[in-house]
Amino acid sequence: MDKNRKVYKKINRSGIVGTIIRVVLFSSLAGLILYFVYAEFVSYILLSKLSTEYEKAVGMAEIYDKASDTDAELFNDTEYAGTDYIIMDGSGERKYVSGEDTCGKNSYAVDNYLRPVVVYQDTKTDTINFGKRSLKINWPAFFKEMEKQNAGKFQLGFDITTDKKDRDDDDDDEDEDYGIVINEPTSEDYEKIAQLYDEDQLVAMPIWVCADANGGSEKLARRSAIYVNMKDLTIFVELYIAVGLIIFILIVSLIANAIKALIQKRRITSLFTTDAATGAKNWMYYIIKGEDLIKKRRNARVPFAIVNLCFVNYRNYCLCHSVQDGEKLLTAIYRRTVHTINPNEICARASSSNFALVLRGGSDEEIKQRLDSLIQGLSTINQPHTLTFQAGVNVLRPNTDAAGRTVRRNALNLETEYNNACSARAKLSDTDGSGVAFFDDRLVDEEKWVDIVHEKQQQALMNEEFQVYYQPKYDPRTNELKGAEALIRWASPEYGFVTPYRIIPIFEKNGFITAIDDYMITHVARHQKMWLDKGLKCVPVSVNVSRAHFADNNLAEHIRDLVDREGAPRNLIEIELTESAFFDDKRAMIETIKKLKDYGFMVSMDDFGAGYSSLNSLKDMPLDVLKLDADFFRGENAGERGEIVVSEAIKLAKSLHMKTVAEGVEEKDQVDFLAAQGCDMIQGYYFAKPMPMSDYETRMQGATA
Ligand code: C2E
Ligand code: CA
Ligand code: CA
Repeated sequence: MDKNRKVYKKINRSGIVGTIIRVVLFSSLAGLILYFVYAEFVSYILLSKLSTEYEKAVGMAEIYDKASDTDAELFNDTEYAGTDYIIMDGSGERKYVSGEDTCGKNSYAVDNYLRPVVVYQDTKTDTINFGKRSLKINWPAFFKEMEKQNAGKFQLGFDITTDKKDRDDDDDDEDEDYGIVINEPTSEDYEKIAQLYDEDQLVAMPIWVCADANGGSEKLARRSAIYVNMKDLTIFVELYIAVGLIIFILIVSLIANAIKALIQKRRITSLFTTDAATGAKNWMYYIIKGEDLIKKRRNARVPFAIVNLCFVNYRNYCLCHSVQDGEKLLTAIYRRTVHTINPNEICARASSSNFALVLRGGSDEEIKQRLDSLIQGLSTINQPHTLTFQAGVNVLRPNTDAAGRTVRRNALNLETEYNNACSARAKLSDTDGSGVAFFDDRLVDEEKWVDIVHEKQQQALMNEEFQVYYQPKYDPRTNELKGAEALIRWASPEYGFVTPYRIIPIFEKNGFITAIDDYMITHVARHQKMWLDKGLKCVPVSVNVSRAHFADNNLAEHIRDLVDREGAPRNLIEIELTESAFFDDKRAMIETIKKLKDYGFMVSMDDFGAGYSSLNSLKDMPLDVLKLDADFFRGENAGERGEIVVSEAIKLAKSLHMKTVAEGVEEKDQVDFLAAQGCDMIQGYYFAKPMPMSDYETRMQGATA
């Protein structure tokens, strides 16, 4: 199970986490690459162009320095004719303006490779056009990036928009299309630019570039445009789109892969956790999901009910119909059950017709009600047949530590808990019909006890820890001691004084009972011999011989040898057989009884009237004594009808020449009644309880009760 659990967890974990990590890493890497390409391009384009523009401003400043005043005509004869420019003093105040002043207030120092170049934004134009597109400049972002003065790390602060107006352009509007739109430039502007650059391949960004004039006491700001070659831009955009596309495709394929893996994982997990025959969740699922659920920290306070729900008539159903029909029915049962439970509860097919459930428990009463109504619903699922369902419930209460705090159920083993639920169900027998049984710790204690007894029995026998108790039998008319029954007790040094009810059934199951019977016979014979030697007046003592012992063909010889070995007279030993033993092999039984009698033992039938009555067998069995079961004198049987049966049984025994012993008699009027009916002996608390051999010895000396 642990191995399966590991495999399951591995399957569950694989795929999704790895994919998420891959996608995140890859996306970050892609982002970095894109940013890097972009930044490289911008720095290359901008800075190289800015240099050119700066050189022009410096050229103008030099001419201005040489001139005597700020004449509007100053540059007319130079290449700078018609250029807008401004002369400012050191603090940026206008001294002279030639052309239109669209120079913004704030200056920015851009670290252009070796020297800082001061630039101003253009207040009027924030859009530049090229081709069939226009760029909207985000000035603050543009300068913010520039201000970083970190060569090579610029952000081109514009958004690309498509100007609809330009779409349906014809050749006539060429000027507008490709113009460097800076304050409604004149047609000469266009011509000039057209001369310098190829018409189709221009992008211009308006900007005011500053140069020092007059040794730095004044500044000349020149309106310029940063021209970007369309080819550069196209290559860049194409490259950018291509890289972006590749990255996008890769990411999409990664995600697609992840989804595929996820679907596959689901399929595998489902195969792993589904019962093929019924489609129900299987045991594997139950254990893994169940433990996860119960062990959760937040569920530490929640009581859970572990349930074993069994469809009792499954085998019969399969016999009468077919296995396939049976499985179909199980599927229907499963579906109905799943439908009934809450989403945070679990139902799975554990084995054959057993379903394992984890329910969120309330009180025992509430759980019982829930299961009763579930069973009620299930029992009519296959009408007109009524189906029988039994449920065993093991309630898990919250765990607390020494300080009384609720703690997680980390140590939980659901398999064990489910087995406990099964033990609870096993208390109901198949013939009980539908029902619900709860597990309690005593069941575990019982199982543990069986193991302990099994482990200790041999040692206890060797150490003579088993003691013979004697319960005297008295004549009800004369109160004379007529006999006794030897009853075992276990004086265990570890477990104290243990009564036969706690060990005999275990010995009967594990076969140790034959050793016990021998032990008792041997000890009783030994005691009788000892008492005879002491000169005491001994009476027959009966010893119980278990039904299992009758499998031994030489039982009579075996008993004879045991008794003879102790040197006790055989007629002081009586063998008690239980009525049920008569059913096994009647002929062998009769043989053994006859032999025992031939050897000189007395033989009695124990517990007559309890369970199966075999009046018929009485006539074939040459028995000496009939022991009337204590049940005759208890509860409902004790009334008038009981008395009739007892008196008839005594009569019957007499006519078969058997003596009668009434067991379990506690009341005076019972004694009187039995005396009147002619019962020979009474063995009951009224006269004496089973007692240690020393007490019995004392009783023998008194001889009457
Ligand atoms: P059992 O052979 O029917 O023994 C009679 C049981 O009834 C004894 O219980 C005895 O203590 C009890 N009893 C007698 N009179 C009264 C009474 O007036 N009232 C009540 N309430 N009980 C009375 P014990 O000694 O506990 O033995 C229980 C059973 O264990 C025995 O039933 C017998 O079946 C089995 N057992 C005891 N010792 C041995 C043994 O050495 N070998 C075998 N094979 N079975 C034994
Ligand atoms: Ca007995
Ligand atoms: Ca008995």
